[in-house]
Amino acid sequence: MIIVLHKNIQTGELSEILNQLEEWGLEAYIAQFEHRSIISIANKVNPDFDIRKISLLKGVVDVYRVDEPYKLASRAWKKSSTSFEIKGVLIGADELNIIAGPCSIESEEHIFEMASIIAKEGVKFIRGGAFKPRTSPYSFQGLGIDGLKMIRKAADMYDLRVVTEIIDASQIDDICEYADIIQVGTRNMQNFYLLKQLGKFNKPVLLKRGMSAQITEWLMAAEYILSGGNEKVILCERGIRTFDNSGRNTLDISAIPIIHELSHLPIFADPSHGTGNRNRVIPMSLAAVAAGADGLMVEVHSCPEKALSDGPQALYPQQFTLLMTQIRALTQSLKGKQIRENENVPF
Ligand code: PEP
Ligand code: MN
Repeated sequence: MIIVLHKNIQTGELSEILNQLEEWGLEAYIAQFEHRSIISIANKVNPDFDIRKISLLKGVVDVYRVDEPYKLASRAWKKSSTSFEIKGVLIGADELNIIAGPCSIESEEHIFEMASIIAKEGVKFIRGGAFKPRTSPYSFQGLGIDGLKMIRKAADMYDLRVVTEIIDASQIDDICEYADIIQVGTRNMQNFYLLKQLGKFNKPVLLKRGMSAQITEWLMAAEYILSGGNEKVILCERGIRTFDNSGRNTLDISAIPIIHELSHLPIFADPSHGTGNRNRVIPMSLAAVAAGADGLMVEVHSCPEKALSDGPQALYPQQFTLLMTQIRALTQSLKGKQIRENENVPF
């Protein structure tokens, strides 16, 4: 259950509400957002409980029954899809956004070259990792803060917004200074301490799906960020482990309509990590867009053979141009034809 409170609720009114909820056996958690305060009730509410009793309490604006374990991430609570602006670019709200760039920031010269390739295609977001969560401690670990400075400079030159990964809560201040979206990678989806810390900032978070995470677990991870007061969460399907080993991962395209059904949060797809093979990135990108993705994250490299990480899945610049041409054609032909989330279509 979710209880929306009056914007200017008095402290006395709030404690009266909390006391009353406790008396009714309801476990209350307060979340303070930029424009409103709400209480989520964590425990299952008896179906016989008359929620109108809560609406009558002074300071309460609205009450929603939400049975899912994730409350703030659920569509049961928020019917309209979430959208927000990042430096003048709208995320969600039927806009398709592309995040492109190399896996890692490799040098200043290289990230400037990549920024120019990306900007030429009209893309507004550049990606690049400065802190790399590598499977082997002997692999390239990223350029750290120097890398963040490089990507910021290149992005500013080409009017791009920066997406970069965080791997430890101690990096939050630095990443907030240089990035426009903080990426939480698959390996950290259940780093609950990190998620909680990110809830305290007003910086958009791109939350990748854990490689073995069920959708409910993924939405619970989003709930950690939301319940801290940060409403700007983007989900990103990046492939999961299945019994099949013919690709690096299995990109779960079905997660896209499922997320639209269960949640109001925007959902992106990452066919680069989702397949691990550049020749599969274009078809899977098109499939994700056709399935209703709000955006894509793709790895591109000017010379993938020399990439310091994830070379085999990086698109060549010409392939990236082709991808963008095909995406424009696809979105044009889909315009207005997609069945929007939760729409009841009579058959
Ligand atoms: C990445 O985006 O480079 C990355 C490491 O992604 P993931 O967490 O999905 O593996
Ligand atoms: Mn990568």
